[in-house]
Amino acid sequence: MTANHLPKNLLLKNARIIDPVKMKEFEGDILIRNGNIEAVGVDLPEDGGETINVNGKIVTHGFCDIHAHFREPGREDKETLESGSKAALAGGFTTVCVMPNTDPPIDSPESIRFLVEKAENLPVNIHPMGAVTMGQKGEHLTEMASMIQEGAVAFSDDGVPVMNSGVMRRALEYAAPLGVPVINHAEDLTLKGEGQINEGDWSTELGLAGIPDVSESSMVSRDIQVAEFVKGRLHIPHISSRKSVELIRWAKEQGVNVTAEVTPHHLYFTDAHLVNYDTNLKVAPPIRSEKDRLALMTALKDGIIDCVATDHAPHTIEDKEAPFDWAPPGMIGLESAFGAVWKVMSGAGCELIEIVKGFTTKPRTIMGLASDLFQKGTPAELVIFDPDAEWVFQAKHIHSKSRNTPFIGERLKGKVLTVISKGMIFQF
Ligand SMILES: [Zn+2]
Repeated sequence: MTANHLPKNLLLKNARIIDPVKMKEFEGDILIRNGNIEAVGVDLPEDGGETINVNGKIVTHGFCDIHAHFREPGREDKETLESGSKAALAGGFTTVCVMPNTDPPIDSPESIRFLVEKAENLPVNIHPMGAVTMGQKGEHLTEMASMIQEGAVAFSDDGVPVMNSGVMRRALEYAAPLGVPVINHAEDLTLKGEGQINEGDWSTELGLAGIPDVSESSMVSRDIQVAEFVKGRLHIPHISSRKSVELIRWAKEQGVNVTAEVTPHHLYFTDAHLVNYDTNLKVAPPIRSEKDRLALMTALKDGIIDCVATDHAPHTIEDKEAPFDWAPPGMIGLESAFGAVWKVMSGAGCELIEIVKGFTTKPRTIMGLASDLFQKGTPAELVIFDPDAEWVFQAKHIHSKSRNTPFIGERLKGKVLTVISKGMIFQF
């Protein structure tokens, strides 16, 4: 990776521009002046600055991940805001919303301010989410309004669910007038029990305790019904099962204010890949059956699932080398996200512009962030990628402090070449 400051004037020439707001793809140029978008159009003049010939590659909005764990404060050996930013850039992401399940959790206005200040000079835009409950214990709500004032963009106890339905009700009630979503990790812990992988043929075959799909869908159902009842704003993270998809479809038809995300790994792998007991495939919620995977792909294509989010969850090698039952769930995902999703979804006949939307405007809209990044005067947040490049994901592509990913050795499609973010240009 090389990093340089943007010149005063930079013209990106001969680009295939995807504008996910106007839903247009066209050949053109982009002029950046003093780090801001000056013009997006056809045959723009060079203007005496530097020119990069993009040679027909795609130029579009920088990607936005609304579900990442950067482990700071508390586990800086796994990831920091700084190392996480580098992983994000390598994946084409210029905006990342970070989950509050750090040690201690981000559950106060002061801790939100700490993160905002710490992230100020990093090369990507980092937006903190605040915990729903104090200490993520599921009992007492945090000071949501003050946390929003300090820069929180959503509330989540992710890592653990809000098990108590009354607490979930109050969280949705308080967050709604603040205009931000409540994001509940939907796994009923009493149904999950000691489960390790999806409950089905493979859990029996491998002798691992199963996690039934209803552990997710029963809580998705509860959250949707409570959100509908109190007119709340609900976002459902990392959907893993067909049953959850059907509930979200129903909720959207009823006009419930609900959105949903899917991870690259739930779109890419099935429980059959667990045949070698690879702890890098142990995630929460678990990777499910081929039937579920196909339902997730269709739902993303149809817009029932709104966007992709990585659930980037770094862990040390020692943690992941533990016996399967003891290894913590989670895998890193920023660097491989686009290549994995575009490989799977292009294979299913999905249009590139739809996938770009799922990485750009849709996640930004869910979080209430400005989403029309081509508007004149907007700080340039762009990604340049080759949608046709096939490449094998290797350890050298990882910029995270951690290495826990089952994507190493996988052939992916779509490679990030250049990222422009916060006045800098990064080349890979
Ligand atoms: Zn989660």
